[in-house]
Amino acid sequence: MPPSQPIKAARGVRDIMPAERAVWSVAERAAHQVARAHGYQEIQTPIIELAQLIERGVGEETDAGGKELFRLVKRGHEELVLRPEATAGVVRAYFQHGLTQGPQPARLYTTGAMFRYSQPQAGRYRQFHQLDVEAIGDASPAYDVECIEIAMGWMGGLGLRGLRLELNSIGDQVCRPAFIEKLVAYYRPLKDRLHPDCQRRLETNPLRLLDCKEEQCAPFKAKAPRITDQLCEACAAAFAQVREMLDGAGIECQLNPYLVRGLDYYTRTVFEIVHEAIGGAQNALGGGGRYDGLAAEIGYADTPAVGFAAGFERVVMMMGAEGEEVIPPPAALLLVVPDGPLLKEAAEVGRLARAVASTAVDYSERSLKAKMRAANRLGPRWVAIMNQEEARRRVVQLKEMAGGEQREVGWDELPGILEAELRA
Ligand code: AMP
Repeated sequence: MPPSQPIKAARGVRDIMPAERAVWSVAERAAHQVARAHGYQEIQTPIIELAQLIERGVGEETDAGGKELFRLVKRGHEELVLRPEATAGVVRAYFQHGLTQGPQPARLYTTGAMFRYSQPQAGRYRQFHQLDVEAIGDASPAYDVECIEIAMGWMGGLGLRGLRLELNSIGDQVCRPAFIEKLVAYYRPLKDRLHPDCQRRLETNPLRLLDCKEEQCAPFKAKAPRITDQLCEACAAAFAQVREMLDGAGIECQLNPYLVRGLDYYTRTVFEIVHEAIGGAQNALGGGGRYDGLAAEIGYADTPAVGFAAGFERVVMMMGAEGEEVIPPPAALLLVVPDGPLLKEAAEVGRLARAVASTAVDYSERSLKAKMRAANRLGPRWVAIMNQEEARRRVVQLKEMAGGEQREVGWDELPGILEAELRA
């Protein structure tokens, strides 16, 4: 029985239609270019990972690694999930394939689809795409800055202007425990006046109290202790170096003491790139930081690393608003338009022309007039029209759509003529 309603896409996912795809291609090319320009190599890890990797590597307590995780129906003995982000998979691959033995740090990047079963809203999808960049195997804060430069360079290179870099340090295992104690001591007497989510955070993940967006907690947050005042010597020095190198790169940053990552394996630098024109909670185009404790969390040797992820959907959206205009290329430069039942002949002309220019053939049974109307909508640079008599003589009428000039051209001359025109 046919369905009662026409079937549409699932909630929270979106189709990228050809007109928009051209903008995506520009963003993708730029991503590859900026990553490679910094010596990063492309890696591609699977969309499916073992649940355990994500639960440990992203964290079951986080939304992405917990309640928003897309779990696949269990088959056999493996529990599989769709990746909500790329870092855990990239770090796993780094160890699994012995990149530990190669030059350090391994500079890796990837682009692709990520999945989170979140409440769909503007700028937030269940399948979305990220550029993910990771430098694994060296603790120097210079790599933190390198990641920031790549992220800013990608977005800036695409013409985005109102970008703001927010920066914080969340310390490490040496100084963070004492800070958290201080934070809990500050919040404990206020517990009853906090939002229920924050009451819970106070018990489970106090650092996350700082990135609470609830208005009722705002006045308490403003007076909360700041971790950057409590950093140990090594963390303070690293933080100073990051700021100094950002300065050297001409990248302005705004210190944001409320920027945190809720997981223990994050250390020191955290950053976010926000766009002032995007309001609300979805204003971040990308974010990242140092995660020196992640490797151990997923069962490998302690290894310092830093990285970031930025979302294509939001970057492409902002390109539409303030980037350079991307004019989608025509579907084909040449359209072969046979006038009459000339499928085989039209196909042959198509094959010849395709060697030099993208070529489509109108195989429909429409009238010539209707085919020319369709050609106008398709927007090729040329059409090659041919009737039965012309097909017999192996010629077409090559017409330039913009100027309207038309000339008779032999099939065999066609590639050479198109090539010359394209070069001109
Ligand atoms: P995160 O991995 O959560 O730090 O996110 C990094 C970036 O990925 C964000 O700044 C967004 O640009 C993008 N992003 C994250 N989640 C989503 C989503 N559900 N829909 C669209 N983009 C997202």
